[in-house]
Amino acid sequence: MNYARFLTAVSAARKPSPIRVLTELQQRSPPSLISLAGGSPNPNTFPFQSASIKVKGGEALVMDEPLMKRALQYSGSYGIPELLSWMKDLQKSLHNPPTTGYSPERGQMEMCVTTGSQEGLCKIFEMLVNSGDNVLLDAPTYSGTLAALQPLGCNLINVASDQHGMIPADLRKILERWDPADAQKPGSSVPRVLYTIPNGGNPTGASMTCERKQEVYELARKYDFLIIEDDPYYFLQFQKPWAPTFLSMDVDSRVLRTDSFSKILSSGLRIGFVTGPKPLVERVVLHIQASTMHTSTFTQLMVSQLLHNWGPGGFLKHIDGVIEFYRSQRNTMLSSADKWLKDVAEWHPPMAGMFLWIKLKGIKDTQQLIMERALEKEVLLVPGGVFHINSSDPCPYVRAAFSLSTPQQIDEVQHIFTDIFINLFYIMPANSIY
Ligand code: PLP
Ligand code: PMP
Repeated sequence: MNYARFLTAVSAARKPSPIRVLTELQQRSPPSLISLAGGSPNPNTFPFQSASIKVKGGEALVMDEPLMKRALQYSGSYGIPELLSWMKDLQKSLHNPPTTGYSPERGQMEMCVTTGSQEGLCKIFEMLVNSGDNVLLDAPTYSGTLAALQPLGCNLINVASDQHGMIPADLRKILERWDPADAQKPGSSVPRVLYTIPNGGNPTGASMTCERKQEVYELARKYDFLIIEDDPYYFLQFQKPWAPTFLSMDVDSRVLRTDSFSKILSSGLRIGFVTGPKPLVERVVLHIQASTMHTSTFTQLMVSQLLHNWGPGGFLKHIDGVIEFYRSQRNTMLSSADKWLKDVAEWHPPMAGMFLWIKLKGIKDTQQLIMERALEKEVLLVPGGVFHINSSDPCPYVRAAFSLSTPQQIDEVQHIFTDIFINLFYIMPANSIY
């Protein structure tokens, strides 16, 4: 892999921030090291002293004074060592990427902690995407991805998808515009990046099959592009065994994977992680050095203590509980949709995540329906248009999240929604754009 050809000029120009390098060094040194280097403030002057955080059904997390001082201090940009090593072991056990060990041909897997996977994604895009570049993705897609990608001025190419995610045959057809032999040529317009959400897609709820991933991976090899696997709903897959990931099949080191703790530990703590080829993760870390410096040390220590107390078994047991909750919410959503929406809408049952993607029959666009009529009745869903590359394109879908509402509320929303929808047909001609 020649990673240099994937980098934007800005990313290629990044150099280590000298003081950040010293912080990394200090982090790995024995506590006896006397440092006049780092420019760290003295935590004795900070008002916070200690903390104890209760954990449901488990040991409390205790931050005594020395640990609290560490929590309040700068730390290395990759993440604190004990959290990173825990995450690396987790990635190896879940995905067993072929590049875990060093190999001159296949490179080496690297990881860093990010302030939520959104930070990782945004920095990955800024590392790889130039103005005018062709970027492959399966829209409708996560609006946060569009917010990070679109200002870069790239040309987003929409690969068709269905309830099993991106359709490899459509990807193949799109790629036939180019000669794979041109991919390595300077100035070539062959796409260098493909982005997808492989499980419980936001907003579609779609999950990609293993076969489709393999086909997409083979196309990535043929046309030499990178795959960005944005998988925040990986741990919210309702069926076991969980689907093999792109990372697990990455023999060339061409996958950048973003994971998130937002759906399983906390969304507000802002913590996620990037896994991928060392030369690329290094570039992301240089960007972190120059922007946020690192994810909150307090957050990292809190999460790290919890994960070490739990061990991998305790972590997966917690995940099982989370999955049970979302599965039950999904089932409530589906039975309520069956009850109220059967005649007016259609959908596919999601196998992961927290979204039901509902297509309203006989309607061209849902924006006004949601923003005016539904809001008037105090129910809110997301009009599907916001997930499209061109958000003003008419879209007959709405996204319903089943994460936060009680079963009663889920039922009530769909009942009210059906009323709104049926009333609409009394007052509007059925074919009008609405
Ligand atoms: N990617 C997708 C597909 C998402 O749905 C979300 C959150 O909604 C994110 C990334 C951002 O997650 P985080 O909270 O880890 O930044
Ligand atoms: N600007 C200057 C001049 C600084 O010295 C520092 C920290 N050493 C920063 C910005 C970054 O501060 P923060 O830790 O709030 O990101």
